Amino acid sequence: MLHNWIPTYGNLCRQGRSETPICPRCLGIFETAYHVLTCSYSAAVICRSEFLHSVLSSLTTFGTPLYIISTYELKLSATLGLSYTQSYFLDESIPLENRARLFKALQHQNIIGWPNFLRGFIYIYWEELYYYAHESSGAPRNVSWSVKMVEGAIDLYRKIWSDHNSFIHGATSQESRAKLRDQILSRVRQIYPNPPKLHKRFSRVTNIPLQVQLQRNTTNFQRWLSRIQHQIHVMKFISQTRGSNQLSLCMAYQRGNVDLPPVRKFLP
Ligand SMILES: [Zn+2]
Repeated sequence: MLHNWIPTYGNLCRQGRSETPICPRCLGIFETAYHVLTCSYSAAVICRSEFLHSVLSSLTTFGTPLYIISTYELKLSATLGLSYTQSYFLDESIPLENRARLFKALQHQNIIGWPNFLRGFIYIYWEELYYYAHESSGAPRNVSWSVKMVEGAIDLYRKIWSDHNSFIHGATSQESRAKLRDQILSRVRQIYPNPPKLHKRFSRVTNIPLQVQLQRNTTNFQRWLSRIQHQIHVMKFISQTRGSNQLSLCMAYQRGNVDLPPVRKFLP
């Protein structure tokens, strides 16, 4: 997750493990790691907003100055595609020297990038600002503030990714099994109206009626679907490797009036 190597649908499709690269929640765009942070699906937006404010309010317990939290809210709201609610906005003057430090930290974090902030790439000037803010106010400071900050940022990213996975795979194992079966059934129902053209050595997909197919258990369905995928792959391979004027082995046998060996039938 910290290296952005998360199994988004874009990555899964590139690796041949998903048929579509489109986001399963908003159904509108190629799903990348960045899109997971900004998906416009309404339930995802609500969850991201809750997660963000939960992390920001936890920062107040470590004595983080409100102008730092307010800055985080502004920048992370934009990063996560949320509206800025100014929940931590404080109408008080920031000491002049800390204003310059805040500006410097902000500039450097803008260069690193706020999506990277959520992966723990947080500029050291934030810690410096926290240190000087407490020194000027005289309030006790938390020595492990920077560690808590990084933990909070990574935890926010982890919660967003977990919410994404709950939508796709379900939150409980029972829900997960039900979602998997639904996904497989929808794929089977898509195959039957337009069955793939397979090589004649393979039985036709529609040889087994759909109603009979639907009584299979999920594991058998998965095996059947992967067998069909393999047969489609074999068919493509055969049609790609043989030129238009080139005879197949069967055609050559037939042309030479040679008896063909018995064809082995494979399970549908
Ligand atoms: Zn989306």
